Amino acid sequence: MQQPADGQRSVYIAGAGIAGLTLALSLARRGFAAVVMEREAHPSPLGAGLQLSPNARVILDRLGLAEALANAAFETPSLDIYPFARKTPLRSLPLGQAVRRRFGIPYAVIHRAALADVLLQAARRSPGIEIIWGVRQLDLVRHARGLSMGIELADRQALNVRPHALVGADGVRSAVRTEVMDGPAAKYSGFVAWRTLLAEAQLAGLAPLDRTALYWGPGFHAVTYPLPNTGQVNAVVVTRLPERRLARPPTRPPIDRWYLKRSRFFGGLMGMVGDKWTFWPISTVQAKSWHDGPVGLIGDAAHAMVPFQAQGAAMAIEDAAVLADRLVEADSAEQAFAAYEAARRPRIARVRALSARNGRVFHLPWPLTIGRNMVVAGEAPEAHLERLDWLYGTDVAEPRPVPAGT
Ligand SMILES: Cc1cc2nc3c(=O)[nH]c(=O)nc-3n(C[C@H](O)[C@H](O)[C@H](O)COP(=O)(O)OP(=O)(O)OC[C@H]3O[C@@H](n4cnc5c(N)ncnc54)[C@H](O)[C@@H]3O)c2cc1C
Repeated sequence: MQQPADGQRSVYIAGAGIAGLTLALSLARRGFAAVVMEREAHPSPLGAGLQLSPNARVILDRLGLAEALANAAFETPSLDIYPFARKTPLRSLPLGQAVRRRFGIPYAVIHRAALADVLLQAARRSPGIEIIWGVRQLDLVRHARGLSMGIELADRQALNVRPHALVGADGVRSAVRTEVMDGPAAKYSGFVAWRTLLAEAQLAGLAPLDRTALYWGPGFHAVTYPLPNTGQVNAVVVTRLPERRLARPPTRPPIDRWYLKRSRFFGGLMGMVGDKWTFWPISTVQAKSWHDGPVGLIGDAAHAMVPFQAQGAAMAIEDAAVLADRLVEADSAEQAFAAYEAARRPRIARVRALSARNGRVFHLPWPLTIGRNMVVAGEAPEAHLERLDWLYGTDVAEPRPVPAGT
């Protein structure tokens, strides 16, 4: 293995996930060298579906990925809402054309592996980016004139480098956060996401196959949407599970039989999937600081949140764009991280609060559901988009907002 790029302005990034690769591409676009250090030995097609909202897409499109994403993603025409046991949607919230009209950018769904692949292919084409796979350990020494870092690889080779900055984009269980920065461990949220991919034919008649659907239940909910080019539908069920049960979890979502009998969707889905669920405990991160000198965090490593506004990856992409600009413009990495954190904190806090609130609304028990459903049924057709102008309509890396109504 060649000694990777070194020198005053090389940014070293732990994690070749959504955040890490977007940061590398954003830096390379502005002429900075980036070295991405990934723990896995190869790209791994982990994960399931992701909803990619306009605030994230505008950043990815600017990196030259519009065409590749258009081929890999699907523009869902609406989000249909099914309160518990309802066979027809209470509301069909327009997305597709309505989002394009309002924000000038599509709202799409994509397989996480497809998004990771689009980013990875672009990074491989970019001369300023180097990716090291199979990284085992990082040993960091801080000294008056910056950082020295030893990188231990799976084959026991070791590299020694002098990074301008080290960025932890290594996900919710970030070692950069907990080991290098002595930050907090991730905390279990009390929720588990149960994920599965089904052939479209299996779900025909049970869930819409051409759009996103959200199913509310008392204490649980589900989301389904088709994944493009796969003939598959992504289905996620979210339930509560006490922490003491995590060590020996059930093999399927713990939804009472009484409820399964009363919901054609939940009953049908559970019967169809049986025990073939991917168990995904949802953890969150509340770090007091996202940087310490020339070391900083982005994405889930900094602020993993519950996924009920489908914004974790979008926030990771936004972080990457903002941090890249600050790293290029600031005199030192420390100043760049401080400016990035100050810019990002308020927006992340707002999205985090919205996601948590959605969880409470989705899971309301009867009779509180009556008021909720009346409010949702009575809203203007695009009230949901108007409410989210601040989120979907903001391009965080450009001073002007995404033009509305184009
Ligand atoms: C059920 C569910 C549904 C979701 N749906 C959506 C959605 O619709 N839209 C959305 O925007 N977000 C969604 N999210 C959130 C989204 O998946 C995450 O927020 C996003 O993947 C975070 O990206 P990241 O790059 O920060 O971390 P990750 O994607 O976790 O990437 C971290 C990378 O770092 C690597 N790594 C880990 N440790 C090390 C180490 N020590 N050294 C080197 N590399 C390391 C990992 O292998 C990985 O490649 C959802 C999450 C869940 C649980």
